Amino acid sequence: MSDTSKTPARRTAKGRSQGQQSTVASPAKMPAHEPCEPCDSLKAAFARQLRYDLCWDEQNSEAMFHALALSVKEQLLDNWRDTRRQDLQQHKKHVAYLSLEFLMGRTLGNALLNLELTDECRTVLQEYAVRLETLEQQEHDAGLGNGGLGRLAACFLDSCATLGLAVTGYGIRYEYGMFLQKIVDGYQVEQPDRWLRDGNPWEVRVPQHNVTVHFGGRTQSYVDLRGRCHILWLDTQDVLAVAYDVPVPGYRNGRVNTLRLWKAEATNEFDLAEFNQGDYTEAVAAKNQAEQITMVLYPNDSSENGKELRLRQQYFLSSASLQDLLRNWVQLHGMDFTEFPKFNAIQLNDTHPAIAVPELMRLLVDVYELEWEPAWQIVSRCLAYTNHTLLPEALERWPVRMFAHMLPRILEIVYEINARYLDEVAHRWPGNVSKLRDMSIIEEGPEPHIRMAYLAIVASFSVNGVAALHTQLLTSGLFHNFHELWPHKFNNRTNGVTPRRWLAYCNPALAQLISSRLGHDWVTDLSKLSALNAYTQDHAFVEEWRRVKQHNKQKLATLVAERCRVEFDTGMLFDVQVKRIHEYKRQLLNILHVIHLYQRVLTGDTHGMQPRCVLIGGKAAPGYAMAKLIIKLANNVAHMINSDHRAKPWLRFAFLPDYNVSAMETICPGTDLSEQISTAGKEASGTGNMKFMMNGALTLGTLDGANIEMLEEVGEDNFFLFGLNAPSVEELKGHYRPWEYIAASEALTGVMALLKSGHFNLQEPEIFAPIVAAIESPTDPWMLAADFESLRLAQLEVAKAYQDWQRWTAMSIRNTAASGRFSSDVTIAGYRDHIWKAR
Ligand SMILES: *Cc1c(COP(=O)(O)O)cnc(C)c1O
Repeated sequence: MSDTSKTPARRTAKGRSQGQQSTVASPAKMPAHEPCEPCDSLKAAFARQLRYDLCWDEQNSEAMFHALALSVKEQLLDNWRDTRRQDLQQHKKHVAYLSLEFLMGRTLGNALLNLELTDECRTVLQEYAVRLETLEQQEHDAGLGNGGLGRLAACFLDSCATLGLAVTGYGIRYEYGMFLQKIVDGYQVEQPDRWLRDGNPWEVRVPQHNVTVHFGGRTQSYVDLRGRCHILWLDTQDVLAVAYDVPVPGYRNGRVNTLRLWKAEATNEFDLAEFNQGDYTEAVAAKNQAEQITMVLYPNDSSENGKELRLRQQYFLSSASLQDLLRNWVQLHGMDFTEFPKFNAIQLNDTHPAIAVPELMRLLVDVYELEWEPAWQIVSRCLAYTNHTLLPEALERWPVRMFAHMLPRILEIVYEINARYLDEVAHRWPGNVSKLRDMSIIEEGPEPHIRMAYLAIVASFSVNGVAALHTQLLTSGLFHNFHELWPHKFNNRTNGVTPRRWLAYCNPALAQLISSRLGHDWVTDLSKLSALNAYTQDHAFVEEWRRVKQHNKQKLATLVAERCRVEFDTGMLFDVQVKRIHEYKRQLLNILHVIHLYQRVLTGDTHGMQPRCVLIGGKAAPGYAMAKLIIKLANNVAHMINSDHRAKPWLRFAFLPDYNVSAMETICPGTDLSEQISTAGKEASGTGNMKFMMNGALTLGTLDGANIEMLEEVGEDNFFLFGLNAPSVEELKGHYRPWEYIAASEALTGVMALLKSGHFNLQEPEIFAPIVAAIESPTDPWMLAADFESLRLAQLEVAKAYQDWQRWTAMSIRNTAASGRFSSDVTIAGYRDHIWKAR
């Protein structure tokens, strides 16, 4: 790699910057591109990093990982700088993707893949007698997210860079990411994730981008000499937002986008004020308080907890990111914001950063002195909002009281936005007071709240759901009033996952097999995989496909053996459900089915039974008692089954601790059957389902979220469908009688009897009583009992299909072949063309 022209993209970069007449900046602002020496090859960079690293010794793979990561980052720096320069010169539309979560996982392997450096890296490491895999394992996951929403943001960054879009991710640099999950006596125990302890080799601290964020204080108005009213936000407590940039390389295209993560620090002014009063320790304490804001990620998936610190995080991210955008604009264009929406879009990943709405108004009106109307025109042409959930407990509402003392100026702006918007509602539905009450951004009551989703919808030009069913349920249910008022705002963008990480990187054996027949183009055009359908009758190919799956199952079995001390036999069916633990995702239904299989073994009813290994993994929110109890049940049932020699030939069951992105990279390639069994109408999209499908797993699923579209693509013959659909779930509400379903199913009757007998909790009587009560409750929103028999029958079909391995393998190939639509490249092309209008 000493010859830099080998990187085609860098050549393009140089070629363009020479050929282009600069239409933008004065030479003073944009110095001409100084051609510089080609940077060191990976080999030379690595040698240098090791030589000057005092921690290095040959036994220490941690230090070697660090040196390697720094060397790879060096390889990115020229293209990173060129990308920024070109985006400015070419007047590219810029998109800011605001998200409280980016679940990035590890970076090294994926960066090597995208930069086409994997082989070179292996060669270099040979000289040091160390395997690349060994060093990769040293990297801490960047666990800056809970689950699907945060991982979606990470997949989107990869696709945006690969599609050549000028997209910056804006997030928070949490000191502690998602907690580490330990299992002790079957119970989840949370441990802090100090992922930055050994430093993060990928980040670059860029203090020149620092901004100040205000909290607290009071507002005061004054009229200037020309009669214009101004609002001052006074006596604030200020926090410094320090920018840390992380490179996001596209797939072999020379582009390197940026993920900018903000860290909170005390401002110098703040320190000084305290020092001047002579209180040194108070000053240091204040520093601590400021840094609290970015200390820890809230570990709730699909539920809000209304904590003040969480609102602080939301405002901190939104304000810092918007100030950054506006400052960049003013540097290039001066104070004229008329064209700002033409060159900027701001995507809100759920309502978590929806406070960006009033904050952007504040910056434009109070700081840059625009009038309200033109400012609102700009805001409502830039902002777009993605909704991620229909669960009522996940919809964010903040007490007005909290805003009043933390963000008094922002509250005034929210009131003003609401007043003007309610005029429009009143005009549309004259005299309809209940409409006004229902649609107001302020929810009245003894404790008034701000409805963040409504705030986001009112200000956004686009509101999207994340799967066809989800968008339909949004427009007909939760947001139907808004859909009537502004139908043009609503659109669907079905989620996707990046085929780089989730196939090319995590499943090299399958990737190679696919490329051997189709060439490499599928990596950036996943629709090409449909050509695999031609190989389902090709015996050599089918054999190879099966061998790859066996190889990946062996790797998964090794992971399970290490982490769970349970032996998985690769001759058995691998039946997997990994995702956050939540009642709507129905891990409990899966466990009930496992208990049923165990009972079949105990009663000798094993005729036609398919031996299988069942794996469940996922974290529960620390405050979610029922989810934690489900983990305990899974572990107790697993312990009972795995220590019973009668079950051994038929059934193994394990709970995998600490499910995260790195674990998923081993899990999805080694899975035969993917369980996507949520109650219909509750899972917005799902993305785990897509990773499994891409890697040739078959899906056992309900008609929920993106499962519906997956079924559409692959056909009913290659998908195990079961359960109620969303309208039936709704219909059943109010007259659901679970005991009737239990009585009608011999299998479920047996399972409930065994569960109630205390068989799985002999040492801890009654601990599972809440689970039994939930299943038997007529108000069980998840309707487990209603779907059990349907699940059991579908699982019989699974067993039958698996017993004909040629048939099963053909179905597996068809699933991968049909997964092209679920590339996040397709999703992002949709955002690009229909929302951002970017190129
Ligand atoms: C993909 C992914 C998820 C999302 O999984 P779902 O099954 O869609 O809920 C959650 N966590 C991790 C670590 C993932 O990789």
